[in-house]
Amino acid sequence: MNDIFGCNLAELKEALADYKVPAYRARQIAEWMYQKGARSFDDMTNLPKNLRAALSGAFSIREPRVKDRLDSADGQTTKFLLEFADGTAVETVLMRHSYGNSVCVSTQAGCNMGCAFCASTLHGMARNLTTGEMLAQVMTVEEMLREQDGHVNTIVIMGSGEPLMNYDAVLGFIRLMHEPYVLNLGYRNITLSTSGIVPGMYRLAEEGLPISLSVSLHAPNQELRATLMPIARKYPLTDVIEAADHYADVTKRRVTYEYILIDHVNDGEEQARELIRLLQGKLASVNLIPINPVVERNLMRPAPARIDAFERILSRHHLTVTVRREMGTDIQAACGQLRNRHLQGK
Ligand code: SF4
Repeated sequence: MNDIFGCNLAELKEALADYKVPAYRARQIAEWMYQKGARSFDDMTNLPKNLRAALSGAFSIREPRVKDRLDSADGQTTKFLLEFADGTAVETVLMRHSYGNSVCVSTQAGCNMGCAFCASTLHGMARNLTTGEMLAQVMTVEEMLREQDGHVNTIVIMGSGEPLMNYDAVLGFIRLMHEPYVLNLGYRNITLSTSGIVPGMYRLAEEGLPISLSVSLHAPNQELRATLMPIARKYPLTDVIEAADHYADVTKRRVTYEYILIDHVNDGEEQARELIRLLQGKLASVNLIPINPVVERNLMRPAPARIDAFERILSRHHLTVTVRREMGTDIQAACGQLRNRHLQGK
């Protein structure tokens, strides 16, 4: 049976074509699914009974199962392990910031980018997620928040997976979030993070959507970056920076460079100076993220003094820099850890 969760209005109209119903029925169905939480046509009380019965026989509205849920002790972070109909499980994280509720969405089940510091890639990639499966992650959180009079305010596409390797489904998801019959979310409230898929970055720049782009940099030179991120061998650092500059030029949006700080790997004074040479004068900011230690690979978190020193060198040279405050380490909020536990248990 065709799952229609994740369809936009045009797709819903197409799905309804055989039923010879007025066009406004598509919008009613969208509002029931995306705004009123209906998961059955029987709930859609403003549709004629015979239409409800016919649609129930032809389409389904699938909903993931919440397989696990962890709340951080400080109440700020909630992590969900969601399982889809085929048994595929993904992680979604809600972060309650002072400026609003943010949801971190996964775009693939697992990931095959192989970044040395990331738990999501340990089991490779199971499959791409569909637009509906990405939307379902957000709606699961939104529906929980609505019960507490809250809403999802921002979305970060930073969970497991490389979004630009699942381009069409991810773009469909971004456009849906913006629709008034879904969340009416401003594009500026959506951030997409990439490991540096250069052709995808150029393609995204041409979409004309002012979403924020975040680039996982993690090293200030090609040699070191290639040891941490195998994808750097395919898309070298200079090409990634050029593509990011192009994105900033076209969209007039500041690009954020994510930089995971790893003790005595990329956190020295020399690397800070290289980073300054690389980014100075650009419409860019740097987000420093002290690593969640990966003991098996001897990738450890720098001492606070090293983190401060690195940050200070950058800000002295007028780079816009932030250090990501840790959220939810007590519930394994780092990407992929909960899913791995689930896979190991299987
Ligand atoms: S950091 Fe992102 S791109 Fe790299 S392996 Fe993890 S999920 Fe994939």
